[in-house]
Amino acid sequence: MTPFNQDRPTWDEYFLMLAKLAATRSTCLAFPVGAVIVKNKQVLATGYNGSPAGSVHCTEQGYCYPGLSSCDVSKDMPSRAVHAEANALAQAAKHGIATTDASIYVTLEPCLSCLKLIISAGIHEVFYETPFNSGGSLLVRDSFINEGLVTLKKIQISKETAERSASSLLNPTSVARANIII
Ligand SMILES: [Zn+2]
Ligand SMILES: [Zn+2]
Repeated sequence: MTPFNQDRPTWDEYFLMLAKLAATRSTCLAFPVGAVIVKNKQVLATGYNGSPAGSVHCTEQGYCYPGLSSCDVSKDMPSRAVHAEANALAQAAKHGIATTDASIYVTLEPCLSCLKLIISAGIHEVFYETPFNSGGSLLVRDSFINEGLVTLKKIQISKETAERSASSLLNPTSVARANIII
């Protein structure tokens, strides 16, 4: 029995899976988050939640900053992490890649700061896996949506795609698929 079949992930599943893989590189212990900026079905940049380039990682010291026992010990303290979306935009900026009319895939709905950055970077389409905003943040988010500045769509990876991808991670990927005639 082969662990593979001919089914392929949808584009949305593909880019969300890439965002999930990026999230595995997160270094702030509060939230693993990954982001992928896409245009015309091509990846422009990726990012994950972590301390600014060159700064010590939370994963190394165990907390965001001295005095905290962990990264999420207090919701009132500002995070020192650069959010995944902001890191993806920064990566595009560093490499001179235009983000106008691109889309972004994120494992967590963008916070307002990132959503504002995303919109100002010319990105008007957001796909996310897990909701984040609540209360007053929803009002601001929805005002941007109602202005026609951005669309947000909650998406998920199908169980079948997830199982196939997990199998691909757990086993050698590039093995001959006996049931496919090339
Ligand atoms: Zn942290
Ligand atoms: Zn954010």
